[in-house]
Amino acid sequence: MNKYPRYFWNFKFISSLLVLSSLYLSGCTSAPYTNRSQLMLSSEKSEIEMGEEALKEVKKNGKISNNKKMNLAVKRVGGNIAKATDKQNYNWEFIVLESKDANAFCLPGGKVVVFTGLFNYIHNDGELATVLGHEIGHALARHTGEQISHTYLENAGGYALSAILYVIGAPAGLGSIYGVATGLGINLPYSRTQEYEADHIGIVIMAKAGYDPKTTIIFWNNFSKQSNYGPVKEFFATHPMGEKRIEELKKLLPETEKIYSAASPKLGTGEIL
Ligand SMILES: [Zn+2]
Repeated sequence: MNKYPRYFWNFKFISSLLVLSSLYLSGCTSAPYTNRSQLMLSSEKSEIEMGEEALKEVKKNGKISNNKKMNLAVKRVGGNIAKATDKQNYNWEFIVLESKDANAFCLPGGKVVVFTGLFNYIHNDGELATVLGHEIGHALARHTGEQISHTYLENAGGYALSAILYVIGAPAGLGSIYGVATGLGINLPYSRTQEYEADHIGIVIMAKAGYDPKTTIIFWNNFSKQSNYGPVKEFFATHPMGEKRIEELKKLLPETEKIYSAASPKLGTGEIL
């Protein structure tokens, strides 16, 4: 027999809903530069810790390149872009790994990793700024945290609300977030929405850093033509190419040309690589 009166359950039910909806609301944030609203159930601090851990794994399992020219280019261009962001509190790091793949990524917290294979498709600093701006764009918009949040809700099936409680309330849940992120954090395929957003943030920050935003159009035009070619395939597997990528970027040219004309110093396409 139920020892509590019915109104008690109603009260409990309604108050639970209120608590859950406030948790849900506190789990929403908006992406920088685009203001798109995002579901965010993980904290930026925990994502930064994941980035630190993942970088240790990358260094342990990969071979760091000692190619001077590539290392200098990634530090020079990456450093300029990092300075143009509002994330001076990040412990930025830039490394080059030996790999024939034309790929790059930025772990949460500003850990930028570039594969040597990318340099076969990069002609100058401006083109490198395009790729690094895009990758850093994913990190600034906390796309990994967003993916983790969605993975949680999907795994929880129709029990989204209990998943939120689980994630936010239980230490075991926090442990799983960490597991999901370290397992998927590096090669997690981004959604097309996130791809367009990373392009958007990328072109804005490269222009702020003093690189000519028109370089972006040239780079993506050439690079995407090779999307079926072995070393380039991997990049497009984790960064799905939207059909409208170039068109969307062209729409951002008037705004970013203005940002570029206000930048000092103006680097144009920078050094030839
Ligand atoms: Zn991407």
